[in-house]
Amino acid sequence: MKLFPCGHATHPQWRMAAGLSLAQLRAQMALPAYASAPRLGLLYITDHYASEAQAILDHVRAELPGMSDWVGTTGVGICAHQAEYWDEPALAIMLCDLPPEHYRVFSGLAPLPVPAAGGWQARTALVHVEPQTPELAELLAELAERTSDGFLFGGLASARGQAPQFAAQGQAPGGCFVGGLSGVALAPEVQAMIRLTQGCQPVSAVHTITRADDLVALELDGEPALEVLLRELGITLDEPQKAIAVVRQTLAGLSLPQQAVVDRTGHLQQDVRVRHIVGLDPSCTCHACAGTSGVSWNQGGRDGFSRAYLHHLDRCGEMLGPMLTTIHNLHFYLNLMREVRESLDAGQFSAFRAQFKADRARGV
Ligand SMILES: [Zn+2]
Repeated sequence: MKLFPCGHATHPQWRMAAGLSLAQLRAQMALPAYASAPRLGLLYITDHYASEAQAILDHVRAELPGMSDWVGTTGVGICAHQAEYWDEPALAIMLCDLPPEHYRVFSGLAPLPVPAAGGWQARTALVHVEPQTPELAELLAELAERTSDGFLFGGLASARGQAPQFAAQGQAPGGCFVGGLSGVALAPEVQAMIRLTQGCQPVSAVHTITRADDLVALELDGEPALEVLLRELGITLDEPQKAIAVVRQTLAGLSLPQQAVVDRTGHLQQDVRVRHIVGLDPSCTCHACAGTSGVSWNQGGRDGFSRAYLHHLDRCGEMLGPMLTTIHNLHFYLNLMREVRESLDAGQFSAFRAQFKADRARGV
């Protein structure tokens, strides 16, 4: 099999970055080891170029007329072969040499069809997703059911404004849109090797969660989890702004008891699931945590904003992030003051105080 040509560049002007990338692609396509007539293009841009997304797609389609199909999306950061572009104007293109009968481009406008007997069947799919899409979990589950492996890979579109996605097939104009999900489904003939690109390295020793409440880890190795976190990260609650910044940069790697966590080179094993550390309250009934229904997560409410979404907003510098966390904080303090007043009126402030301290010590 021939190598897939790949080009990437950063430049304040997208036309310059596109020109540099196209030059790399053309140079590779002239080499015998590389595919000379690929058909499926992957195009990723950083959000500095988001407002020009359609023009960029039109430009690369015009420059590479042999490429019939394109998929891709926008990120605050993108990576390409041995390069990472974070918060700078950049784009990356890879040209995949796959026969047209081995893949299908899909989007909200042209969804992947339900496989019929004897018809085309996808094995897996590369998916790009707008994280604010309503009922996203259901849509992804539905898409996974349309693949024989039930396995999807890909990533979230991310941007400080709109995050355009690309899904263009054949000669149809357009191909750039915002919202929903899109990507390319791959037939069983396509041998895909999938790796996570978070590039995480362990920063502490392995701990065992000895007590948890639903998704909240309360104790690690029998010690209050917060104390372990503060110690391992070298932070203190006396400097909350600094502590929050460090926690935001830290992920938690989770594994089942029988799974190996770290390999001999000190890297996380494949089975480790990497998750963000977030502290929003599952018992809270504020608009941010419990949504319009006001029913907390603990009580079965699922209308609130997910922690992953809040994290995404925070990472993208979206104004909605601080707005939602402010709503949560104000709700917390108003509620606390109401409870204090009620306990004073009832002459039970000492009992309330003791319960409050006990709850904080438990990490709730
Ligand atoms: Zn809340």
